[in-house]
Amino acid sequence: MTSSRIVTALYPGSFDPVTLGHEDIARRTLTVADRVVVGVARTATQAKKPAFSMDDRLAMLEEVFADEDRIECTAFEGLLVDFAREIGADVVVRGLRAVSDFEYEFQMAQMNRELHPGMEFIFLTPDAHLSFLSASLVREVAALGGDVSPFVSPPVLRRLRERFQKQEE
Ligand code: ADP
Repeated sequence: MTSSRIVTALYPGSFDPVTLGHEDIARRTLTVADRVVVGVARTATQAKKPAFSMDDRLAMLEEVFADEDRIECTAFEGLLVDFAREIGADVVVRGLRAVSDFEYEFQMAQMNRELHPGMEFIFLTPDAHLSFLSASLVREVAALGGDVSPFVSPPVLRRLRERFQKQEE
């Protein structure tokens, strides 16, 4: 049976900032979906203030995925499942790094299924060399003046330098 229906995947996160790990997951998603919407959460529950504004996080994502028109980036507010419904997502994609991600992701997927029984979650693993990487670690290393060029794309590196150099002055 052939089907011409477009499969849309929602890849949500805070992307503060987008790392090569996130990029890997978003591009890998194109092997199972026709269109990926990278959803940047503007959650009120986020305890910590993000390092980058929503505009900056979106601008970095746009630059990083400028070569790929099947990946769109947009902000969202409120419940993930409501946004997934709004954009007609067929699946929600999350990245799984190590065992440490599993418990949280499993809980979230079960809760979201309660909220939206039709929504499927898929979990993808990144290339092995990116499996230790997190945006918080990148921020921490950059803030301390370390070299994060192996972990982020050039537009992100530029903004990290601007952000943390400004703070030192
Ligand atoms: P982080 O955990 O790095 O702060 P986010 O909260 O924005 O990033 O994460 C969004 C999604 O991307 C989550 O499913 C997270 O597990 C996944 N992710 C983040 N970094 C990586 C990575 N290096 N490899 C695979 N998945 C990742």
